[in-house]
Amino acid sequence: MSKEYSRGEFLGIGGALAAGFGLGGCVGTGERERRAASGGEAPDLVLLNGKIYTVDDAQPRAEAFAVKNGDFIAVGSNDDIRNLVTRNTEVIDAGGMTVTPGFIDCHCHPQGLSELYDVFLAYATTIGEVKRRLAEKARETPPGQWVEGARYDDTKVVDEASGRYRRINRWDLDEAVPNHPARVSHRGGHIGWYNSKALEMAGITRNTPNPKGGRFERDEKGELTGLVEERAQRAFDNIARQPAYTREQRQAGVAYISKMMTAAGLTSVHQTGGDADNLIALQDAYAAGEMRFRMYFFPRGVFPLLKEAGVRTGFGDPWLRIGPVKYSTDGSNSGRSMAMSTPYVGTNNYGILTMTQAEVHEAVEEAHRAGWRVAIHANGDVAIEQVLNAYERVQRLWPRTDPRHRIEHCTLVNPSILRRIAAGGWIPTPFWTYCHYHGDKWAEYGEEKTRWMWAHRSFLDYGIKVPGASDYIPGPFEPLMAIQSMVTRKDMKGRVWGANQRISVDEALVVATINGAYASFEEGVKGSITAGKYADFVMLAEDPHDVDPDRIKEIKVARTVVGGKTMHEA
Ligand SMILES: [Zn+2]
Repeated sequence: MSKEYSRGEFLGIGGALAAGFGLGGCVGTGERERRAASGGEAPDLVLLNGKIYTVDDAQPRAEAFAVKNGDFIAVGSNDDIRNLVTRNTEVIDAGGMTVTPGFIDCHCHPQGLSELYDVFLAYATTIGEVKRRLAEKARETPPGQWVEGARYDDTKVVDEASGRYRRINRWDLDEAVPNHPARVSHRGGHIGWYNSKALEMAGITRNTPNPKGGRFERDEKGELTGLVEERAQRAFDNIARQPAYTREQRQAGVAYISKMMTAAGLTSVHQTGGDADNLIALQDAYAAGEMRFRMYFFPRGVFPLLKEAGVRTGFGDPWLRIGPVKYSTDGSNSGRSMAMSTPYVGTNNYGILTMTQAEVHEAVEEAHRAGWRVAIHANGDVAIEQVLNAYERVQRLWPRTDPRHRIEHCTLVNPSILRRIAAGGWIPTPFWTYCHYHGDKWAEYGEEKTRWMWAHRSFLDYGIKVPGASDYIPGPFEPLMAIQSMVTRKDMKGRVWGANQRISVDEALVVATINGAYASFEEGVKGSITAGKYADFVMLAEDPHDVDPDRIKEIKVARTVVGGKTMHEA
């Protein structure tokens, strides 16, 4: 029997094509109407007996919904929906479980490569363990090739000798890896620790001046400690060979990380910065049916080629879509190198700017005038102001309707910054798990600054549609930890940072769902449980409204469904 497309499938494919050519602006009003038109037919899937938070103001709560061809086609009471069930309908009895729209992470780096193939140090707990694992890697590494440790977290690794937390240094690395160049990158990116061999090969000595936009840290005696920050790391770019990942490994990385992230309840993610290899890996995994989440991909190095080929932000389909071009203007929040107007506590360190105002203007002008969205990493207030200056300038000179340019992280704000973001309609993407997970790093910012960091309360109060963003790998991606962090502002040791920025569970759900959809111009097709939108939802074993707020992160994700298809089931 030859395969005949049902009307709904046909419309679904047409919708995907239309979306693919729907460049730039908001995805899908027409698409959504066409998709909803298939509502007269029997559903493929029905969920009954749910405690459903729809995040749709027109109908905030429901008990049941029906899904056909990957879209919600009806949302309502058990009685309404039960009537639609036929022999061919799969029925999920939610048994009173909490159901929400799928969660959206608007800033992360989900390649799954470090986790699978590198010395992955994000969860290492002792300096001895770091050294042991690097020494093992050195034994199997040919001479002259890098030995690398990825994603070391300086505040989570203890020195067994003293029982205290301390940062690793070049002397630790020399003990573990005496003969190869070695580097250990920080969990937050942006900074890394190098051994003596690597420093020697790069020609860096205690007398080498710091380059613009970077720093070689020195101790009180003026000796290099091995810590190298921001642009100074470029000195090591070509000193030794680095094995490349294979195409198969990259595809497997996407399959692996999309499995992990959907198991945590994420149904859409934004990969903020990637090259051609990343884009190929996503397409390979998608084509093989191994990519479980929807992806909004931000080109970095490959932007000029895409632009030349006529591609713009919004190109793609509902599973894989091109996002804004990505740039970076300052240092890191977790690595303590972001550019601020006041220094880190007890220092005269104001952090590092990695682009000048002129460079930011130039990059933004080029992308904006070519019809692209722009997304610029800016953590500190000084960096954020540079980005706002550039966005306001291009809108003044070459106005576009609703460009929604983004400020990635937008960590440290103030009332003037908040007013400017609200007035321009720009999208900030503050870290949503950092307050909880990285608590040991906040003392260096001090109490007063944390009142204005990851300012979800302030953004909402100023009418800004702030989405969620983990920056995984630097921050954990689990959205339930994120909700706990935003609601409690408590770190893992119970200290509270910036209680004034707390938001409610309902507000956190808005951040995690519909505001995430808005951040990719997809609020018309996802982010709420609404007839006509993609059937992306999660079932939670407990209701985050009901549990102790300090336990929200322990809630089990019972099922994650993307486009009507179960991608995770506990
Ligand atoms: Zn990032």
